[in-house]
Amino acid sequence: MAVSEPSQQKIYLPAESVTDPEIPLANLVPAGLGVHLKRLVQWGRKSSVWYLSFGIACCAIEGLMAAGGPRFDLDRLGSFFRATPRQADLMIVAGNVNLKMAEVVKTLYEQMAEPRYVLAMGSCACSGGPFRGSYNMIDGVDQIIPVDVYVPGCPPRPEAVFQGILQIQAKIMAQAEKGARK
Ligand code: SF4
Repeated sequence: MAVSEPSQQKIYLPAESVTDPEIPLANLVPAGLGVHLKRLVQWGRKSSVWYLSFGIACCAIEGLMAAGGPRFDLDRLGSFFRATPRQADLMIVAGNVNLKMAEVVKTLYEQMAEPRYVLAMGSCACSGGPFRGSYNMIDGVDQIIPVDVYVPGCPPRPEAVFQGILQIQAKIMAQAEKGARK
C-alpha cells in the first residue's frame, strides 16, 4: 500500500504582513487556529511577567525585595526582575515619585516594549501617601504614566504585591479574549 506523502504545499506570506505590527497575528494562520494561538501567546506572556529592577523608596525594600526574596519567592509566578527596561513587561513603581524623578520614571516607561504594564505599589505611588500635596512630590504616578493595578498600603505586604501581579496576569488573559493591547 502506498504511503501518502506529507503535503509539500507551502504558504507564502506577504513580506509586509510579517513586519507590520498593525497586522494581527491571528490573520497569519488558518481561521479558527488564530484564537487558540492568541490565547497561547497571551498565556506565555502572562506566565512570564518580568518586572523592571527599579525602586524609588522604602516600598522597594520593605515590600518588593521581600516579595522577590526566598521566603515569598515571586519567581514561582514566573516573575523575575530585569535590569533593563527593554526586557521588562512590568514596571512596579515602589515609592514616592518626586518632581526630579518623574522625568526618569517616564523615560524608563517609554523605553519598555509594548505591551507594557504598570503596578503602583504603596500609598505614595497610588496617590502621594503621606507626602500628598508636598511641594516637590507627584500625587500618584498615574499623573505621568498609565497605571494598570494599584496596590495600597504603607508599605504593602509581599502578599499584596503577589495579588497585584495576579491581577496583571488576569488582565493579560482577558486581553486574549478582547484583542491584544496596543
Ligand atoms: S507608601 Fe509608605 S513605605 Fe511606601 S514609599 Fe510611601 S512612605 Fe515608604
